[in-house]
Amino acid sequence: MNFHHNDMSIGERTSDRRKAKRPVPRKSFTTALLETLSNSNRPVGAYDLADRVSHAIGYRIYPNSVYRALASLVADGIVLFIASRKAYLFRDQQIGSTPMITCCKDCGAVAQRRLEAIEKMLTTLCKERGFASTHFYVEVLGRCPRCAGS
Ligand SMILES: [Zn+2]
Repeated sequence: MNFHHNDMSIGERTSDRRKAKRPVPRKSFTTALLETLSNSNRPVGAYDLADRVSHAIGYRIYPNSVYRALASLVADGIVLFIASRKAYLFRDQQIGSTPMITCCKDCGAVAQRRLEAIEKMLTTLCKERGFASTHFYVEVLGRCPRCAGS
């Protein structure tokens, strides 16, 4: 990969004249990333996120920066990694600690639902195996009501 993100010399970079001409970013990278994810009703891939966030903040964000930020947001439980899509989804905080994500194989629609009933069961199963669980999410593949025709 070729990165030409900064061709300016140190002298130019610190010049006040140059600084004044540089556009002021409209919003921070993390704010734009979270807004992009929360405004999407489908999982979004890292490369697509890099493009959308770059557009929102007015300067180029590379996918490796997006991956780094996402790793931290996933670890904090703010964003979910949807393995079947290799993409990211803003986690609905109203759903509680164990969301179930249904992913339609036909139209790509995703929905988040609460999995209260099996949370206790999963916790017990993990404890029995000596596994210290921190959080769960369950991804279910199938067809949404519209695509299933029901
Ligand atoms: Zn569907």
